[in-house]
Amino acid sequence: MDAVQLTQWKHDPEVRDVPQPDPGPGQVLVRIAGAGMCHSDLHLIHDFESGMVPFEPPFTLGHENAGWVEAVGVGVSGLELGQPVAVYGPTGCGRCHRCVQGMQNYCEHQAELTSMAAGLGDDGGMAQFMLVHDARHLVPLDDLDPVEAAPLTDAGLTPYHAVKRSADLLVAGSTALVIGVGGLGHLGVQILEAVTPATVIAVDTRTSALDLAATAGAEHTVQAGDDAAAEIADLTGGKNADVVLDFVGSDSTIQLAVAAGRSLGHITVVGIAGGSYPFSFFTVPYEASLATTYWGSIPELMEVLNLAERGLIRAEVERISIDEAPDGYRRLARGEVDGRLVVVPG
Ligand code: NAD
Ligand code: ZN
Ligand code: ZN
Repeated sequence: MDAVQLTQWKHDPEVRDVPQPDPGPGQVLVRIAGAGMCHSDLHLIHDFESGMVPFEPPFTLGHENAGWVEAVGVGVSGLELGQPVAVYGPTGCGRCHRCVQGMQNYCEHQAELTSMAAGLGDDGGMAQFMLVHDARHLVPLDDLDPVEAAPLTDAGLTPYHAVKRSADLLVAGSTALVIGVGGLGHLGVQILEAVTPATVIAVDTRTSALDLAATAGAEHTVQAGDDAAAEIADLTGGKNADVVLDFVGSDSTIQLAVAAGRSLGHITVVGIAGGSYPFSFFTVPYEASLATTYWGSIPELMEVLNLAERGLIRAEVERISIDEAPDGYRRLARGEVDGRLVVVPG
């Protein structure tokens, strides 16, 4: 079968012919409906090198996956062949205190794991079939189109987890600021609208992304740049944002996140552009919390899928073939994608 593989660090992905895997004991073979193309893949491809992570290329990309159960290994029960499923991404030991709560994203044995996820170390979903190493990674779908479900497993789940972290602050009259309205951000705006009464302000450098933010329900859109912080202060009557979700994570966006944040607020950096900020008593609003978040839990994925099954959120998806994937990554790097590219093996 054809697969979109990272064959060497710092090299563009390639389409290669690889053997179709067989499910071993406890494993499930999924026929892929769609595999979302995440900006993290670009960081992985271009910023990582040997020794930074406990795995090496080659492996198949694609860590936002959904499809249908094709075959199950010995000992797997409770799944029907042909059943539509979304795949929970983060690898975990499955037995520690965090994992048994579904928080494999924060597994206590992360240091011993040899893969971050299928598509991030293990072979991922940009291929006709994908091996799921443990059936506990599968969440059944009802009526949702699996192609639209695929990006929800990360571009939906990650913002959902970040929003839930700050649920107590997102009361009526509060403001949430979303910086970066790409794959994650356009779902972040919809999730804020669906589960909180907060007013949403969205910031991006691109007009098409700001248009997408408005369609997704943002009450205000602001062009990124030198005037953005002042504009956000004006829009909030000088109060600034109670919660800032930074889906870029560069020096300049973290700077904006802090400048537009509020005392007692939350500033959450989700984007992994690797920016930094000098934290001190004098540089951040009083009692503001700064945090990063990584992906989300299995129960949270179930909640995100429930929102989508009920039509409360919907991924804006552009379907591309396996052969178009290498160019898709170049388009994503150039900022030419609205919503999410999803590789559909067909
Ligand atoms: P994307 O490329 O789809 O979207 C990024 C958006 O940010 C684009 O709309 C772009 O125009 C905008 N942008 C870029 N620079 C900006 C700036 N200076 N100011 C305002 N907007 C700007 O990317 P994505 O797939 O949504 O991922 C977003 C980030 O989140 C990436 O860094 C990715 O690696 C990271 N990520 C983190 C996690 C996690 O668990 N923490 C999970 C998935 C992705
Ligand atoms: Zn991702
Ligand atoms: Zn664990």
